[in-house]
Amino acid sequence: MVATLPVLKDFTEAVGGPHVRVVSLITGFESEHTYSPKPSDILSIQNADLLIKIGLGLEIWAASLIENANRPDLPIVTTSNGVALIKDDEGHADDHGDDHAQGNPHIWLDPENVKMMIAVITKGLIAADAIHEADYRKNAAAYIDRLDVLQKNLQAKVNGLQDRAIITHHPAWPYFARRFGFVIKGNILSQVGSEPSPKRMGQLIRLIKQEGIKVVVSEPQLNQKIPQILAQETGVRIVSLSPLPGAIPGTEHYLDLIRYNIETLVAALGGA
Ligand SMILES: [Zn+2]
Repeated sequence: MVATLPVLKDFTEAVGGPHVRVVSLITGFESEHTYSPKPSDILSIQNADLLIKIGLGLEIWAASLIENANRPDLPIVTTSNGVALIKDDEGHADDHGDDHAQGNPHIWLDPENVKMMIAVITKGLIAADAIHEADYRKNAAAYIDRLDVLQKNLQAKVNGLQDRAIITHHPAWPYFARRFGFVIKGNILSQVGSEPSPKRMGQLIRLIKQEGIKVVVSEPQLNQKIPQILAQETGVRIVSLSPLPGAIPGTEHYLDLIRYNIETLVAALGGA
């Protein structure tokens, strides 16, 4: 099986256990928006019995792979099916990005969405391999239980915070922020691959100073130069959080990633 993102590989392995072998096309070190497929990706698609993706136009780079691998027959599990979407409606003058016209695709950063995604994956695995249905259902239920316990534990840490205002690197975090109660005051990049204009940089610097924003979230997959400039100009604290597992040591699995992201952000905002 092939997953487009490492987070989907992790979910599929959690449900599939020993019955699945999953390859992720991108690693946690690459951006989900600007990935350039490797020749070996075509081979992976040629040999796949199932493709697991987010959908919502996120994996624009996957369509040509399927075409080049000549696999129009490849069954696809679209994990955003049924998830209530957030539309990007930040009205910055600089935002020309219409990247997320179908809804913001970073659904997995809210554990409640993950519960639905796990259900979609479970259904997909059962459709592909009905013999192991009981195992898939049992694994999915166990995973959702673990996620539930972790989510409550992390929510309690966030609830102790006074200050929850952040600026984020690219618009990956609206589901995460809404679930846990952070307030995103702005994004450095309206879409990955662009650079903020000098005017936008001025706006960000004024925003940080006027609103007394203490923390800017940078991401290891993106250029660190702009967050560093913001830190130099305003003294704001830069904290690196990852939307994808594997980029930061100890975050190879989603449960560890979401714990890392919350605990790091809570500490930076002055919590325990
Ligand atoms: Zn993204």
